[in-house]
Amino acid sequence: MEHPENDAQYIGLTVNGGVAQPPVVNPYMQRRRRKPLPSVSELVEGILKGDVTILSRAVTLVESLAPDHYALAQEVIEKCLPYSGKSRRIGITGVPGAGKSTSIDVFGLHVLRDGGKLAVLAIDPSSERTKGSILGDKTRMEKLSQHPSAFIRPSPSAGSLGGVARKTRETIVLCEAAGYNNIFVETVGVGQSETAVHSMVDFFLLIQIAGAGDELQGIKRGIMEMADGIVINKADGDNVGPATLAQAQYRSALHLFPPTASGWRPEVLTYSGYYELGIPEVWDMIDRYFAFVKENGYFEAKRQQQARWWMYETIDEQLRKNFYDNPDIQAMLTDCEADVLANRRSSFAAAAQVLDKYFKMKNL
Ligand code: GDP
Repeated sequence: MEHPENDAQYIGLTVNGGVAQPPVVNPYMQRRRRKPLPSVSELVEGILKGDVTILSRAVTLVESLAPDHYALAQEVIEKCLPYSGKSRRIGITGVPGAGKSTSIDVFGLHVLRDGGKLAVLAIDPSSERTKGSILGDKTRMEKLSQHPSAFIRPSPSAGSLGGVARKTRETIVLCEAAGYNNIFVETVGVGQSETAVHSMVDFFLLIQIAGAGDELQGIKRGIMEMADGIVINKADGDNVGPATLAQAQYRSALHLFPPTASGWRPEVLTYSGYYELGIPEVWDMIDRYFAFVKENGYFEAKRQQQARWWMYETIDEQLRKNFYDNPDIQAMLTDCEADVLANRRSSFAAAAQVLDKYFKMKNL
C-alpha cells in the first residue's frame, strides 16, 4: 500500500515500501485439542482422594455455562453430597481496604496450625468487570497461597449475583467432599452479596475499620444484624485508640438490636491483621460460637434452613432465566416496555399479557 507520506505535498520525504509480513499465526502450530471431559466417577474419585487438580477441574465445570458441563457438574455434586457438610463455613466481609485479604492470610494460617485443610472461596458479583480478580491475585494472600493445605479459588465470574452465589455454594460441597474442613467465603462488603454469603455459612464475620464513615462501611442495619462477630482491624500503632472507641460504639449499637435467632450475642473485638495481634482471640470467639450453636441445635437447624433456601433460590433463578432468555418473550417485552413508557398500557396489563404468552408457550 502506498504510504500517505509519499504524497506530492510532502516534498523531500519518501518512505520506502516495507517487506512482506509473515502470517501472524504460526502455520506449524497445531490446534490445541480440548482435553476430553473426565467421567463422573473419575471426578468423584479424584475429589474424594483430595486430588487438587481434579477438584479444580470439577469447580471449573460447576462454573461453566455450557449445558453439558452443567449436567456433569450436577451429577458430581449429587455424588459428593453424602461426603459433604463436615466443615466450618465462615463468611468474611468488609469493604475494600478493610483488610480482608491480609486478615484471611493470617486467619488461614492460624486455623491450619492445628492441621486440617482450608478452602478460601469468594463471591464478587462485580467480578465480570474485574475478571475475577478478587482472589485472582495470588499476592493478596501470599502465605496462604503457598500453603499445601490451602485451596484458594477466585469468585466465579459473570452472571447474576444469584448465579455466582449458587456456584460458590456448589463449590463448597465439592471442597468438603475433598476433605476441606474449613471453608472461608469472602465477599466485598458493599451490597447484596452479604445475604447470599449469609445463606451458605455458619458464622458471619464482619471486618470493620475505625474512622471510616458508617455509610462507607456498608453498615446498613441489615449487614450488622447478620454478623455473628464484628472485628475491628488495624488496631495497631496510633490506631489503637480509635479502634477501641469504635469497638465501644459497635457494642452499644448491637445492644439496640433484637436477640439473634441463634441465641448467641454477637461480639465485637479489635485486632491487627498486618501485625498479627489479637488473632487467637478472634478465633477463640469463633470456636465458642460453634460450641454454642452445636450445643443448642441451631447449627443443624440453620443448615437445614439454608438447604431449603437454596432449593427455592435455584428454582427462582432457573424460572427467571428460562423466561428472560426466550427470544419471543424478549421481543414482546421490548414492545410492551415502549407501550408502558408511552402510557398506552398499564404496567399490569402489559405484564399479564407477556406472562400469558409465556404460560401458553409452555402449555401451562
Ligand atoms: P481488602 O481490600 O479488604 O482485601 O484489604 P487488604 O487486605 O488488601 O488491605 C488494605 C490495606 O490495609 C493494605 O495496604 C494493607 O497493608 C492494610 N492493612 C491490612 N490490615 C492491616 C492492619 O492490621 N494494620 C494496618 N496498619 N494496615 C493494615
